[in-house]
Amino acid sequence: MSCLLNTPHIAVVGAGIAGLSCAAQLENLGMRVSVFDKSRGTGGRMSTRRGDDWQADHGAQYFTARHPLFMAELERWQRAGVAGLWQTTVAVLGEGSPHRRDNTPSRYVGIPRMSSPARWLANELGMTTSARVTELSRHEHRWQLRFDETTPAHEALEKTRYDAVVLAIPSAQAASLTQAHCNRMTALCEASDMLPCWAAMLSFSTPVPLPFDAAFVNAGPLRWIARDNSKPGRPDSETWVLHASTSWSGQHLEDSTDAVMDALTQAFTALGGPAPVSVTAHRWRYSEPVSSPQPEVCAWDAALKLGLCGDWLNGGRVEGAWLSGHALARNIASME
Ligand code: FAD
Repeated sequence: MSCLLNTPHIAVVGAGIAGLSCAAQLENLGMRVSVFDKSRGTGGRMSTRRGDDWQADHGAQYFTARHPLFMAELERWQRAGVAGLWQTTVAVLGEGSPHRRDNTPSRYVGIPRMSSPARWLANELGMTTSARVTELSRHEHRWQLRFDETTPAHEALEKTRYDAVVLAIPSAQAASLTQAHCNRMTALCEASDMLPCWAAMLSFSTPVPLPFDAAFVNAGPLRWIARDNSKPGRPDSETWVLHASTSWSGQHLEDSTDAVMDALTQAFTALGGPAPVSVTAHRWRYSEPVSSPQPEVCAWDAALKLGLCGDWLNGGRVEGAWLSGHALARNIASME
């Protein structure tokens, strides 16, 4: 008991891959961690939508691994059976005649769904989902979190005090929590704009007769299409994911879901796809950061004991997000 009382207790807000990477590493380094996410599940933008007889990764499509630390983590995921290689050849459409892009570096996916590595990491952690953090406050050098009133048992959750807080959430959402406490961090968040992306998930009763499983699209509203069931460990039901370009998504941000589903389905049929049996759409308001180099892969204020991590600080991809969370945990541990 006395040992637990002396262990720093850290709140991690956001259970995307950055927050989970940070939380897992903090626990490895001997700290006590509580993770909160506003969604019902974990994984953030590494996410999967499930229908009656279909599923589709509607956020991140695949990830690559270049850094030795992330390659080692990927090996752990592969040994646990929650990630693997997606052996596919990606076509490029709308840029001269259709051609194929080479397969390096290798593309990996969560198995059986993109959210699987996050769920696996979260299993080992103290997790509270459906918990939206709306405010941070400081009391005698410790942090208190306030939650949205719809958060189950929010009054009980608000009683805990933490030694440090990690915000592993998109920059705009982080800015709203840092602004009462740290001008430097708020400026860092506000300097990073994030772009939207409309995603559509189309299901079919028979295989779509396109001669590829995935394609970058460089014309019209779409930028990417993929046969989700060509990824390893997926159900057989034929399902395609379509991503609109960030510019089209920005122009149509407030359109109705029906209008977006119609426009993206039409663009798919114009590429040679048949009419789907059903369509679902999802709007990612913060899909990827505007690419601009950031001064640091994570941020840590040792006096306040407040940290920031996430893809927006490190290149806007799964690997960068994981590395950002991992680096922040090491910064926190080195200053404890
Ligand atoms: P997130 O995954 O966004 O996690 C943040 C979490 O914080 C979320 O779970 C959210 O619910 C939670 N949260 C936010 N605010 C609060 C709050 N106030 N209280 C509590 N919880 C909160 N990357 C690739 O590597 N390859 C790809 O092919 C690829 N394609 C993509 C396609 C799309 C459409 C999108 C949207 C993203 C894509 N990405 C891709 C990017 C990749 O998904 C992200 O870089 C990565 O998942 C970001 O992880 P993160 O932990 O930084 O943030």
